[in-house]
Amino acid sequence: MRFLVSNDDGIYADGLIQLAVSLSSLGEVTVVAPDTERSATGHAITMHHPLRVRKVNLPGLKIKAFAVDGTPADCVKLGIDELLDYRPDFVLTGINRGANLGTDVLYSGTVSAAIEGCIMGVPSLAFSLLSAEVMDYSTAGRIAAEVVGMISDKNLTPSTLVNVNIPNVPLEQIKGMKVTRLGHRRYSKNYEKRLDPRGRTYYWLAGELIEEAMASDTDIEAVKNLYVSITPLHFDLTSYKMLDSLKRWGFDHDIRSK
Ligand code: MN
Repeated sequence: MRFLVSNDDGIYADGLIQLAVSLSSLGEVTVVAPDTERSATGHAITMHHPLRVRKVNLPGLKIKAFAVDGTPADCVKLGIDELLDYRPDFVLTGINRGANLGTDVLYSGTVSAAIEGCIMGVPSLAFSLLSAEVMDYSTAGRIAAEVVGMISDKNLTPSTLVNVNIPNVPLEQIKGMKVTRLGHRRYSKNYEKRLDPRGRTYYWLAGELIEEAMASDTDIEAVKNLYVSITPLHFDLTSYKMLDSLKRWGFDHDIRSK
């Protein structure tokens, strides 16, 4: 198997190195990742200036790696189109420093990089490790390899990505895996309002997570109960249940025939 590995925490992030190392037991890995941290850049791509690429030696590893001065989505696009010597069987992203649960997936560079893989027709998986004081990626790396191993001989449609969130506890405390749907994450007190030294107001995004009881089949609830959460996502945002309503409301008509 051949993989493209990317992330949004930057090419030297511990989680990316762990993912590349863990996956090299299953096949060939090429890393294409942002040269600096690009968390919460969503699905942005770079259009108005050129992208520069630098070959990088990852410390102590014999894994081909490229640093790109662009976004996570840029890395996957450019990687598949130009940088890799092969068309990857899977795009794998992460292991992100912090969860990507519920509505987080819309802001996440890690998930967006995996979505870019899907858009390019390559089945993709995104991996995130829940935040804790000490980030230990070794368990998450083993789980990532296990998930990829389980899915590699299945027929994962290229338009679907698998979003994996891993509790940050030792392997023996993880209860298992759960197939989940996205929950809903809400934050309160989003902005801190402060004054700069010249007396002008500025705002700094902070936000406290509101802990809400969630349905038991959500990703949020699964990781809370120390399960690895496995959520299939697709980038078709169409609200199929509203199609008929909008037609009924008269939007579906030909102006000339009036
Ligand atoms: Mn990140």
